[in-house]
Amino acid sequence: MENTTVIIGAGMAGLITAQALHAAGARVLVLEKSRGVGGRLATKRVGEAVFDQGAQYFTVKDPAFATWVSRWQEAGAVAPWPESAHRRFIGRPSMTAVAKTLSEGIEVRREHKVSRLTQVGERWCIEVENHGLICAAQVILTAPVPQSLALLATGGVKLPALLEAGLAKLNYGPCLALLVTLNGPSRLPADGVTKTEGDVRWAADNQRKGVSPRMAAVTLHLSPEFSALHYGLGETEVLELVRQEAEELIGESIATATLHRWKFAYALETYPERCVWLPEYRLGFAGDAFGGPRVEGAALSGLAMAECLRVELSK
Ligand SMILES: Cc1cc2nc3c(=O)[nH]c(=O)nc-3n(C[C@H](O)[C@H](O)[C@H](O)COP(=O)(O)OP(=O)(O)OC[C@H]3O[C@@H](n4cnc5c(N)ncnc54)[C@H](O)[C@@H]3O)c2cc1C
Repeated sequence: MENTTVIIGAGMAGLITAQALHAAGARVLVLEKSRGVGGRLATKRVGEAVFDQGAQYFTVKDPAFATWVSRWQEAGAVAPWPESAHRRFIGRPSMTAVAKTLSEGIEVRREHKVSRLTQVGERWCIEVENHGLICAAQVILTAPVPQSLALLATGGVKLPALLEAGLAKLNYGPCLALLVTLNGPSRLPADGVTKTEGDVRWAADNQRKGVSPRMAAVTLHLSPEFSALHYGLGETEVLELVRQEAEELIGESIATATLHRWKFAYALETYPERCVWLPEYRLGFAGDAFGGPRVEGAALSGLAMAECLRVELSK
């Protein structure tokens, strides 16, 4: 583990940091608590139905990000959303394809939940649930910031007061995602529906998107207000509260519903820098709270993080 950089989190920010560092010759190891990679780029299967349950598409504005996206496009992992009038990209066959492609060639340990970070001399000791200790020269945190700060606090790591205060202000809003199957085909437009009011703010038919080839499978994202108020409810209660609105929007009756709770769905504030690197701690922070609350923002934060570290490691 001599001079290894451990990256916590295999979402867009963590994986792109890892790939960019790997390309620059650094030794990287990614630790991910979930069974799959992608974080909020997530796909769920329920029987025959398949749903993109987190990010639905991404946009590309920055030329550096565009270069990565063209590579994924060549690899067949992403494509422009054909039916969309906007310039939107989707994963092929689903959004997690982007993360799977980004994981190639680097070591990603899944089901490795970090529970505590401590500094021992010049090294980091990373405690991983059921897997013991991993040591590293550098650590990059890409989990939502409150979760990253908790890992440091548990290990008794004190950050500079001003930075700690700035990071502690970064909040996230929740989103309840209701994944529904139907009693017949949906009448949703192929590129989904965005609403600015009501309890349902987004609806897309994953069958029309190409994610769920065998059957209609609709992802509903509920409003930030509804999600915060009803976060603890079960799927039956949530469905009953939104059923009428959802069925009117979809144009068909709902057969089954599965609920996914995103506690840290959207970064509500963006930190003034794209990443934070503390050379004296050999510790970094990246993620969408730094680059902006979208897939592209997370990617740009990861790329900035990798560049900081590349310069540091070449000293
Ligand atoms: C419902 C929803 C809809 C969205 N829609 C869009 C959209 O249409 N377009 C768009 O551009 N963006 C969208 N977003 C936002 C976008 O998904 C995020 O901005 C982006 O994916 C964040 O990437 P990230 O790498 O910063 O964080 P994450 O994807 O959250 O990655 C962090 C990773 O860290 C892991 N982790 C956390 N704690 C630990 C631990 N202790 N040990 C190990 N691993 C840990 C997590 O499991 C996760 O994989 C949406 C988000 C949600 C939730």
